[in-house]
Amino acid sequence: MVYKRPLVYFDNAATTQKPQIVIDAISEYYENYNSNIHRGVHYLSQQATDQFEQARKTIQHYINAKHSHEIIFTKGTTESINLVAQTFGMSFLNPGDEVLISEMEHHANIVPWKMICDLKRATLKVIPMNEVGELEFDQIERLITSKTKILAITHTSNVLGTINPIKKIIQIAHSKGVPVLVDGAQAVSHSKVDVQELDADFYAFSGHKMYAPMGIGVLYGKEEWLNKLPPYQGGGEMIGKVTFEEITYNELPFKFEAGTPNVEGVLGLEKAIQYIQSIGIEKIANYEQGLLNYLMDRMKEIPNIHYYGLSKEKVAVLSFNVGDIHPYDLGVILDQMGIAVRTGHHCAQPIMDKFNIPGTIRVSLALYNTKAEIDLFMDALKKAITMLE
Ligand code: PLP
Repeated sequence: MVYKRPLVYFDNAATTQKPQIVIDAISEYYENYNSNIHRGVHYLSQQATDQFEQARKTIQHYINAKHSHEIIFTKGTTESINLVAQTFGMSFLNPGDEVLISEMEHHANIVPWKMICDLKRATLKVIPMNEVGELEFDQIERLITSKTKILAITHTSNVLGTINPIKKIIQIAHSKGVPVLVDGAQAVSHSKVDVQELDADFYAFSGHKMYAPMGIGVLYGKEEWLNKLPPYQGGGEMIGKVTFEEITYNELPFKFEAGTPNVEGVLGLEKAIQYIQSIGIEKIANYEQGLLNYLMDRMKEIPNIHYYGLSKEKVAVLSFNVGDIHPYDLGVILDQMGIAVRTGHHCAQPIMDKFNIPGTIRVSLALYNTKAEIDLFMDALKKAITMLE
């Protein structure tokens, strides 16, 4: 309940609510086997380590990675991308080289690359998109040159909902010898992701957008790439031997996991994945598509609406504005009526610049949303528009 009204939570692209089994897994860890991992011979530490490493395997199988040591635990998508941008950039970028991203990236897949490009005097190049929010596919081949060192691209846009043809994009990049990092933050909870089938070199995602706790995320990297990259952060766990003269580094995945990890987050993420698996990701995808179709149908009742992102392939994320009404004003009134939507630039200012708008209202749906909630949203939206016009 919010403001004594039933809550309609339509801000799932920002973060999802957590199922009880995820919350229980965290309590259980602290109640029964809280301990640091990989370090103790004692019972609790061994139990926590076993559970932690078991969770890594669950995640490996969920995205079909070849090896469990290709799963690196991070704070989230942002840290996963920073890890690659920094380590790849420090090792492989030289002045005059190019990094390719797209116009529909979240800031998390822009800023780390811009920072390392500036440091290394490399150039950031951008694949444009069209008016409905689809990448200009034929530009990709043209923009990959002999200087392109890496392509970093989103699987699914958090603003437009666009699902990019990521497998084809990876094929094009690989045919030119360019590795690909995929930002999967908005993809992993909505459709099957198979990193081997995609042939992704790196795949980044966050737990909290897929029913898991905050502060835990994953970087998948192909073994050969992870072995080529230097460590990211230094500290405990990531070392082999330390003297003041020389340091050797641990093997994968520990080379990239300095310090005490987020054990409760990892255990919660495993439970969230098991929760998704118990329902079935295809079933979730179909259900969410049904909700999106219903929403789009009902939105026809609203005149003067402008959509951002009407790609043929899209997840249940809908960004729009109504007439001249500022998205923030609409968002505030909807909130008072118990409807949680997102307003603003959604950490993707270049998309706002492209459409020359300050922001949008974004509805993003998840597996627990219903058509009845969409009906409540529609009633509230109509009332809010009447109040503001
Ligand atoms: N990439 C995309 C497409 C996102 O939607 C988000 C978050 O909204 C991120 C990256 C960053 O994720 P996090 O803040 O969990 O690191």
